[in-house]
Order: sequence, then C-alpha cells, then structure tokens
Amino acid sequence: MPEEVLANIYKLEIPLPDNPLKALNSYVIKGSERNLIIDTGWDREECMNAMQAGLRKLKVDLRKTDFFITHLHADHLGLVSNIATDTSTIYFNQPDADLLKDAASWERFINFAPVSGFPEDELQSALHNHPGFKYGSKGHLAFAILREDDTISIGEYRFKCVETPGHTKGHMCLYEPDMKVLVAGDHVLNDITPNIQLWSDDMNPLKEYLASLDKVYEYHIELVLPGHRGIFRDCKERIQELKHHHEKRAEEVLSILEKGSKNAFQVASQMSWDITYDSWDLFPFWQKLFATGETIAHLKYLEEREMIRKETQGQKMVFSACLEQ
Ligand SMILES: [Zn+2]
Repeated sequence: MPEEVLANIYKLEIPLPDNPLKALNSYVIKGSERNLIIDTGWDREECMNAMQAGLRKLKVDLRKTDFFITHLHADHLGLVSNIATDTSTIYFNQPDADLLKDAASWERFINFAPVSGFPEDELQSALHNHPGFKYGSKGHLAFAILREDDTISIGEYRFKCVETPGHTKGHMCLYEPDMKVLVAGDHVLNDITPNIQLWSDDMNPLKEYLASLDKVYEYHIELVLPGHRGIFRDCKERIQELKHHHEKRAEEVLSILEKGSKNAFQVASQMSWDITYDSWDLFPFWQKLFATGETIAHLKYLEEREMIRKETQGQKMVFSACLEQ
C-alpha cells in the first residue's frame, strides 16, 4: 500500500470512513537515525489498522520516529496520541496547540451557532457525533513547537516551516527548497477546496487564508504533497483557482444580500453548493454546518472590506449589502 513519492518519502492512504474526504494522506519519511510521520488520521480503529499495516511494510520502528502535524483537525492529529512512543517528538504549532488546550472552544462554537441563525436544537443533538469529538487525540500531548523558518532535517531532506494560517489559525506547511517540495496539509488541495470556516465574530480566516495563498504562490514548488486526494505539480495554477473560487463565492454572498438582509444561515441556504441534493432542507446536518461556517467566513471578509454591514437583531447577527449610491 505505501507509495514511494520521492526517495524515502512514502504516502500512506489512511481511510476516513463515512466522510466525503474519503482518506487522509500520511507521509512517512525514512531517515538513517530517525523517521518522520507527517499527519496521522483519526483515533479510530480503521485508521490505526491502515497506519500499522503501512508501517510494517516500510519496516518503520515507531521508537525511532517523530511526528509533524500540519494542523489541529482530528483527521490529521487524532491518531498521534495512540502511536507516538515516549521517545517521539511531536512537532506542532502554537496557535493550534492553544486552541486544543482551550476547554471553552467547543462552548464558544455552540454559543455562536444561534447568533448565525443555525438551528440550535439540531446542533445540540448532533454535536457528540462530531469527528473532532469522537476521533480527536486523547489525553495531554507534549508538543515541540515550531515557528516560521524553523527546520526539520530528516535523511537527505531539510524542511523549512511555513506558517499558513486560514484553514486553521496555526496551520503550517513544510517546504524543501532543494527538492522544491511543499507538504501542504489542507492549505492547497487539488481536487477539493479546503474548507475555510468561522464560528465567532473576532477573526477573519478567509483574509488570512488568501494572504497565505499569496505567500505560498511566491515559492518555487515542483511537487505538492497534500493532506487529501492526489499529489500534484502545478501549485501556482491551483492557488489561482482557489482564489478565484473565493472571489466568486464572495460575489454570490453579496448578490444574495442585495436582495435583502439575512443572517448567515439564511445566506448559506441560498448559495449554490457543489453537492447533489435537490434542496437545502435535504442537506445532511453536517453539510449545513460546514456551509454555514464557510458563509460566516465570507460574511466577515466582506464586512471588513465594508461591502456589507452587520446589525444585531435580538440574538442574531443580520447582514445587508452596502449599496452604491
Ligand atoms: Zn483540516
């Protein structure tokens, strides 16, 4: 099952059952003294089995293996708590480590949902099934924190850390300047669009994400190793497509608000989503949640650019277009 994508760099496909992402790409880099595993999968049996089978084939000794996790999402981080040994170093970033430690972050999310117009009763009953809850890392993890321009040397490779906030607050890519390889996590994906969500009123992740795309655009990249789906080569072209996608999305939000004020949930219900259901009401709960989170990120982006304006009506935030005179 392991596919050698470059000398001593192997891709393991870790299945994500019942999830539209289908699988996570875990990368195993074999070095002479230590190995490095980049991203791991959920803390779930199917992921563990695939990881162990792959590592057996590659004859990787976990006692000589360290980990680099691109961001806090459970499909990247979850399994590390089960496979790291007491000699393993787990490299991670500070903003996402802080969010993991913050016990109130789920509560803030639940409290913000009704502000966006999202049906609170649906949220409460479904939340315990959230993969972040069920398959996230267990217990306390001791991280070795990396920052911009820090390096990880492994075998013949010397990876440089590139901070790419947006998909999460602390998302981090790795760049190998000699081989011109980008380990992209969920920053740039080829066949699907990385999800940019917001569930608060005090951040602007879409603005950060677009800035991180511009930052990576300047790198000379010949091979992208993404967190999901296929490996690809043309990073600049993909970045342009992703930027175009978000521009189109922002225009769509604006044109929906030009027809009248709405809360985020109402805007999301009128957007065109790339999903095969006849109506918004038939969308599965999780799709509605992701769609609403993505809409909130676009609303915040437009609001900061003063193209729309926000008003508080009762508990809810309502948005309207700033129409030109
Ligand atoms: Zn992610």
